[in-house]
Amino acid sequence: MGESVELPSRLAILPFRNKVLLPGAIIRIRCTSPSSVKLVEQELWQREEKGLIGILPVRDSAETATSGAAVSSGVGGESAERGLKNQAGISDTHKLDSKNQQEVIHWHNRGVAARALHLSRGVEKPSGRVTYIVVLEGLCRFNVQELSTRGTYYTARVTSLDMNKAVMELIEQDQEFIALSRQFKATAMELISILEQKQKTGGRTKVLLETVPVHKLADIFVASFEISFEEQLSMLDAVDVKIRLSKATELVDRHLQSIRVAEKITQKVEGQLSKSQKEFLLRQQMKAIKEELGDNDDEEDDLVALERKMEGAGMPASIWKHALRELRRLKKMQPQQPGYNSSRVYLELLADLPWEKASQELELDLKAAKERLDADHYGLSKVKQRIIEYLAVRKLKPEARGPVLCFVGPPGVGKTSLASSIAAALDRKFIRISLGGVKDEADIRGHRRTYIGSMPGRLIDGLKRVGVRNPVMLLDEIDKTGSDVRGDPASALLEVLDPEQNKTFNDHYLNVPFDLSKVVFVATANRMQPIPPPLLDRMEVIELPGYTPEEKLKIAIRHLIPRVLDQHGLSSDFLQIPEDMVKLVIQRYTREAGVRNLERNLAALARAAAVKVAEQEHLVPFAKDVQRLSSPLLDGKLAESAEVEMEVIPMGVNNHEISSAFMAASPMVVDEPMVEKVLGPPRYDDKETAERVANPGVSVGLVWTAVGGEVQFVEATSMAGKGDLHLTGQLGDVIKESAQIALTWVRARATELKLAISEETNLLEGRDIHIHFPAGAVPKDGPSAGVTLVTSLVSLFSKKRVRADTAMTGEMTLRGMVLPVGGVKDKVLAAHRYGIKRVILPERNLKDLVEVPATVLSSLEIIFAKRVEDVLDHAFEGGCPWRQHSKL
Ligand code: ADP
Repeated sequence: MGESVELPSRLAILPFRNKVLLPGAIIRIRCTSPSSVKLVEQELWQREEKGLIGILPVRDSAETATSGAAVSSGVGGESAERGLKNQAGISDTHKLDSKNQQEVIHWHNRGVAARALHLSRGVEKPSGRVTYIVVLEGLCRFNVQELSTRGTYYTARVTSLDMNKAVMELIEQDQEFIALSRQFKATAMELISILEQKQKTGGRTKVLLETVPVHKLADIFVASFEISFEEQLSMLDAVDVKIRLSKATELVDRHLQSIRVAEKITQKVEGQLSKSQKEFLLRQQMKAIKEELGDNDDEEDDLVALERKMEGAGMPASIWKHALRELRRLKKMQPQQPGYNSSRVYLELLADLPWEKASQELELDLKAAKERLDADHYGLSKVKQRIIEYLAVRKLKPEARGPVLCFVGPPGVGKTSLASSIAAALDRKFIRISLGGVKDEADIRGHRRTYIGSMPGRLIDGLKRVGVRNPVMLLDEIDKTGSDVRGDPASALLEVLDPEQNKTFNDHYLNVPFDLSKVVFVATANRMQPIPPPLLDRMEVIELPGYTPEEKLKIAIRHLIPRVLDQHGLSSDFLQIPEDMVKLVIQRYTREAGVRNLERNLAALARAAAVKVAEQEHLVPFAKDVQRLSSPLLDGKLAESAEVEMEVIPMGVNNHEISSAFMAASPMVVDEPMVEKVLGPPRYDDKETAERVANPGVSVGLVWTAVGGEVQFVEATSMAGKGDLHLTGQLGDVIKESAQIALTWVRARATELKLAISEETNLLEGRDIHIHFPAGAVPKDGPSAGVTLVTSLVSLFSKKRVRADTAMTGEMTLRGMVLPVGGVKDKVLAAHRYGIKRVILPERNLKDLVEVPATVLSSLEIIFAKRVEDVLDHAFEGGCPWRQHSKL
C-alpha cells in the first residue's frame, strides 16, 4: 500500500452509483450488468497480469442513494455520448444522456484507480448469464481528462493526482501538516482504543498507525465509516493532503462521538430491555401454565364481578374515571405480579364505599325521639333535653351544621349508648370509631398507597363497614388521641369535623376526595383537658358526671337487669334479683362512677343462674306448645354437658320460650350467699375507711381521675433518720412539691400545733418522714392533695387519728391558704359512693356544688375551708389539737 502506483494513461472505467471507493479501501462487488461484466471480462479476467481499472462515482438524477458495494451498471449502450471532453474546473461533473434509461448521468471527474485482489466467475441458472464477483482495492486518485466508450463500457484518459516523493517530503516538513497529522493520529488512536475495547481484539490496528503514511491512513479510516455520498465525494476531492487530514480528523472525531453516545444509550436501554423482556417471557410462560391448569377464567370472572360492583357503587364521574384507569392497569397485570393485590384491594374499597348509598332521611319525629331516649336511659334529663334541642335544630334546618356533640364523662355513664339512641332517633345507621391511643395521623387519614401494607384511615374504613354515607359516627375517646412524630391526628380530625372542609375529605390511601358532610358526628371523651382547644371549639360538650348509688339502682332495675336476662335467655319468671341485692352489689362490688361493672356483675349472676337451669333440665316439665329441645344447644350456650346429637331450634322459638321451657315451679331469687358465691367476697365495704385511718398519720383525700372521682388515702410515717422526706406511689412533680410545702408548713407551725415544745425544736430531729400514696400502680399528680398531706402529717406528729367519715380536697399555699381545685362534682360523688359523710372543700369551690345532684348533697355534710387551720379543725374528732389548747 505504501508504494506509489504507476498509472496507465487510459483506464477502463467502472461507474459506482452514489458510492465512492477511496484509496486504501477494499470492496467486494458483484457485476451483473452486461457492460460491467464485459469490462471485468476484458480488463481483468482475461488478462495475464492483473490490470488496473478506474472507479468513477456517478450520481443518478433521481439521487437514489444505493449503499452497498453492488454496482449496477448505470450507464451503457453504444448510444452513450462519446468523446466527452473533460470540463474539470468549470464543472465537477460530466453529463451523459442514456437512451436506455432516459436519465441524465452525472459523472464525477475524479476517481480512484483500483486493482482486483480476487476474481470469481459465476453462471446464473437457468438464464446462463455470466456474473463476476470482484474484490477491489483502491489505490490512488486520478483526474478524468476525457471519457469515451470501448464496446459496451467506458474508458477514460486519466492523470494521477498522487504527489510524488519529492513533493511529499517537502510537505512533511510543513508545520501545519505536522500539527494536523498529530491531531489526526491522536483522534484515530482514541477511536481504535474504543473499538478494540468493544471487540476485544488485539492491537493490530494500532500497528497501522505506525507504518502507513498519514495521508493514506486518512483515506483508510474514512473509507470504513458510513458517511453520506456527498462526504465521500468531498473526501475523494481532497487532493490536498492538509485538507484531507483535517477532513478525516473531523470525520473520525464525529464517529468517535457517535460511538460514545450510542454506547450510553445501549447501556441504558439494555438494562430496561432485558428486564422487561424477561418479565414478558415469564408472563407468557405463566399464562401458558395457567391455561394448562384451567386457572385463568377465575381471575377474569373476578375482575368482571369487580367491575360490575364498581359500576353499581355510584361513584362521581371524576372518581369513576380514576377507578377505571386503575382497573385497566389491573387488567394488564398478572395476579402474581407485585402490586396486583394492592391495586385490587384498592378497587374493592372504591367499589365498597357508599358514594351514594344512604339511609333514607325521614322526617324527624321529635316526640318519638324523646320517647326513645327516655326508654333507653334513666335520668340524664338535662343531657336528653340538650339532645332533643340538637335534633330539633336538625329537623328545622337539615343542612345547618351545628356543633358536634361531645359527651364527656367517666366510663360506663352511657355516652356510647346515648349516641346510638341518637342514631335510632334519626333512623340512621350507627358506627363507632375508636380513637383511643391513636397517635399517628395516618390512622385517621390512611397511608399513601406507596407504603407496603398501606390502609385507609379509620373513618373511611368505618364508612366502608357501615355501607351508607349518612350514618351517625361516634368518635370514641377523642381525648385519647395524642400527637407525636408521626403527625397530629387532632389536626386531621379538625378537618373531619369542619363542615367547610369535610365535603372533600382526603384520605391518603383513597387519594380521591370523599364527602363526609352527610355524616352526623358525635364524640365522647373521659376528660376535657386533653382535647386540643381548636378541636374542642368545634364541639359542644355535654358532661355526664356519673351516677349516685340511688340512680344506679334505678338504672339496674329498669334497664340493666331486663337486658341482662334477655341476653342470657332468661326472664324474670325464672330469675329475680331483688332490690336490696342490687344495692349490695352496688355498694360492695362496684365503686365506679358509671354502671359498666354493675352490668358485668349482674351478668355474672345471670350466667350462674343459667347454669343452674341447665343442671335442673331433667326435672323440668316442658311446656306443651314448645317443641322438645335437645340439651346440648343450651349447653353450648350455658355450660358443658354430655354429648347428644345437635338439633336446630325451630323457627319462632325465642329465648324466652327456651327459658320458659325450663321454667321451674318458682323463680330463682338471688340472695346474699349466691351473690358472694358468684361474685366472691365483697370488694369494698363501709368499714374500709375506718380501718385504714385506724392509725395516726393516715388521711382521706379526694382525687380526680379519668374514670371519675376517687377516694385516695395518704399515709405518713416517721422513723429514725436524718430529717429526709421520702415520697412513694408514682407521683408527679407537682404532688412532690405539695408534700414539701405541707411539711414546711407543719414544721413552721410546730409549736402552735403543739407538736413541739419550743420554737427551737426541730420536728425532724433524728427522724425521716415517708409519705405514701397507695395504689402505687396509678400515676398521680396535681396540687389538690395539699390539705390532705398536711392533715396526715399533723396526725402523724400529734399521734391523733383523723375522722374516718371525712374526706378532703384543696390546694394549699406555703402560708396556709386553701385554694380552689377542679373536678369538685366528681369528687363529691366519689365521696358519696365511698360512704363518706363529711367533705371538706376549699371555700371558693362553693359555686361548683350546683352541679352535684341534690340527693347526694343532702346525704353529705359539706365543710368549706379558707385556711389550712379550718381543714385541721374539721378533720379531727373534737377539733384540732391546738385549738383545744388555745381554748383552755
Ligand atoms: P360509656 O360510653 O360512657 O363508657 P356506655 O354507653 O357503654 O358507657 O354504657 C355502659 C352501659 O351502661 C350500657 O349498657 C348503657 O346502656 C348503660 N347505661 C349507662 N347509663 C345509663 C342510663 N342512664 N340508663 C340506662 N342505661 C345506662
